[in-house]
Amino acid sequence: MDKGFFKELFQEKRLRISHPRFLIYQELSSSEVPLSPRELYENLRRKKRRVGLTSIYRSLDLFESLGMAFKISKGSSVKYKSCKLKNHHHHIVCQSCGRVVEFECNDLTEWSKWVSESTGYKVTDHRVHFLGVCKTCTLSLP
Ligand SMILES: [Zn+2]
Ligand SMILES: [Zn+2]
Ligand SMILES: [Zn+2]
Repeated sequence: MDKGFFKELFQEKRLRISHPRFLIYQELSSSEVPLSPRELYENLRRKKRRVGLTSIYRSLDLFESLGMAFKISKGSSVKYKSCKLKNHHHHIVCQSCGRVVEFECNDLTEWSKWVSESTGYKVTDHRVHFLGVCKTCTLSLP
């Protein structure tokens, strides 16, 4: 992905393009597998990019809240994956290798209505993700 793409995305999200933030997002996007803040930190350090761990945590939080990244928590470990889909979408995570696939949202109107009726809340948004086992892992399982 080129710099222009990031600039556009950041502008669209009304994010100031600070240098560290840019580096962090670039590094996250170039990874096929989810990364922990610590792994991102190490990757950047190996490339002689000095970005503080605090800055990484903050940026990842921000990316997640803007729908630019997906946060995967497993026990006490937290990893992030950059989102390739720009519009509202969902994720499925392989419980064996941790790979993430993104897919468009199916109509959840009925479900939202049901949630609204049974809780009395006005539903404004939803975050849904699935857990599963990917094809590769299914094949290699005994
Ligand atoms: Zn995503
Ligand atoms: Zn897998
Ligand atoms: Zn949805």
